Amino acid sequence: MDFKISRSSRQCSVCSHRFEDGEKFHVGLITRPREEGVFDRVDICRPCWDRQGPGNVVAHWVSQFSREKKHAIYDPDFLWSVFHKCRPGAETEAAASARELSAVDRARFAYVAALGLVRMKQLKSKESRRTRKGEIMTLETLGRREKDRQRFEILSVSMTDDEMQAIQDRLSELA
Ligand SMILES: [Zn+2]
Repeated sequence: MDFKISRSSRQCSVCSHRFEDGEKFHVGLITRPREEGVFDRVDICRPCWDRQGPGNVVAHWVSQFSREKKHAIYDPDFLWSVFHKCRPGAETEAAASARELSAVDRARFAYVAALGLVRMKQLKSKESRRTRKGEIMTLETLGRREKDRQRFEILSVSMTDDEMQAIQDRLSELA
């Protein structure tokens, strides 16, 4: 199983500007037609993003360039890739490599990744509502303008502390 999306190219894919340590930029994912489970990643600097917007990306988020390698649970790019492969409604291509996980595990991975992203202020919790399937949370990415933001709905999975820890440990192994 491969949860990884290629690492940052360290430069803007539009104008080739090299990112500075700590610089914020946008990451976009593009699926390949006829190639299941393969994402192409594009890194776009802020001026280029402001000029051209999201275009044909299926998902996007704001990242921050860092020379340090982070632990999986504290690595927003890694959590985003897990989130986008496991969340309900994930594009079929994106979910292909996560298919060998049970539906229960997929929901748990998506939930734990989402909590990590909320903790790191990459996602904002907007509202939650009760349904027959359980509690559904609405999450939104940050962005200065409406077109920079995306909304997702995920199931809030109830887990004991031990179960939560076990999922976090398995996540680290996947990184
Ligand atoms: Zn650029």
